[in-house]
Amino acid sequence: MNNKVGVELGVLEECESYLLESRYFPNKLGGKPAWLDLKNLPSDFSCGVCSKVCIFLCQVYAPIDDNPNCHHRTIFIFICPESSCCKNNENKNIIVFRSQLPAVNDFYPVEDPTEEIDWHPEGTVENFSRVCSLCGNPAPFNCGKCKVTSYCSKEHQVAHWKLYGHKVNCGCDGVESQIEVPFLFPEFEITIDKPPEQELLYKSDEACMEEYNELVSKDCAGTLDDVSPTSLEQYTSVKNDKYFSKYKRLIDDCPEQVLRYDRGGDPLFITKPHFQQADIPVCEYCNGTRQFEFQILSTLLNELACDDMNGLDWGTLLVYTCKNNCHEGPAYKREFVIKQDIV
Ligand SMILES: [Zn+2]
Ligand SMILES: [Zn+2]
Ligand SMILES: [Zn+2]
Ligand SMILES: [Zn+2]
Repeated sequence: MNNKVGVELGVLEECESYLLESRYFPNKLGGKPAWLDLKNLPSDFSCGVCSKVCIFLCQVYAPIDDNPNCHHRTIFIFICPESSCCKNNENKNIIVFRSQLPAVNDFYPVEDPTEEIDWHPEGTVENFSRVCSLCGNPAPFNCGKCKVTSYCSKEHQVAHWKLYGHKVNCGCDGVESQIEVPFLFPEFEITIDKPPEQELLYKSDEACMEEYNELVSKDCAGTLDDVSPTSLEQYTSVKNDKYFSKYKRLIDDCPEQVLRYDRGGDPLFITKPHFQQADIPVCEYCNGTRQFEFQILSTLLNELACDDMNGLDWGTLLVYTCKNNCHEGPAYKREFVIKQDIV
């Protein structure tokens, strides 16, 4: 169980929105992405199923202490908003990027940020790149009329014009108010911390199975006399799916958790894995192996309960990243995600 000591849990919290901007290196869910490298944004956001633009789901700030290239380091997840693109155990509707920067870089001061709204406001993506007015993704298209407002795709350009008021505001220099875009996920800070004590004392599956077998051998499991309903349920589900049983128990210990961070550790599978470690592709930039870094839990779906998100689904999303944290190549490197579902 030693590897469990390294696990940290992410929970959602309300937070002042300026603290979720790039210059504060946030962990966050929803809204627009807080890009880390502000200049060299990635270019391909198309869903592998329907080719529409994937929108920002969440990001995790995870610097690596002993790697100067990873003084700042953030992992980003984007997902296609079409629920029909969510297929069991398939990852084609999800995109993961890794971005990292040394302490001295073109965007942020070397000192730690202070929580004041006017602290280095120049460290915003708008000062370096064009991003979509609707979703915050890189924006190669401009509004044909005003040539000022930018979009990631024709689709968002049309939506902004028709549904979100640009038809009226086009050409009114910069007075366009910040609009609530219903198809973006609700915005929260994710605070990542050590788990509650009981998780550290967690009993392994093997120990639990042994206890079950012992009960069976004493014939208690058959008569139920000495077994509380809870433990009976526990033992039965262990017998049926020991993975789900463990998943459920660890979630129950801290039901608010939406993310588990354990770089180099083992994921918490929601059911028997449909893949093996050998199926995780090597890093396409350095050919190095990838390792597990963090996972998004099914509990996050409860927080995304807006109408348009109905049907968006996953058991858990397991994110694997390059063990070397290779630096050469694009500023946003694709990493690997496994979507695990109970089927
Ligand atoms: Zn799609
Ligand atoms: Zn967009
Ligand atoms: Zn315009
Ligand atoms: Zn690599």
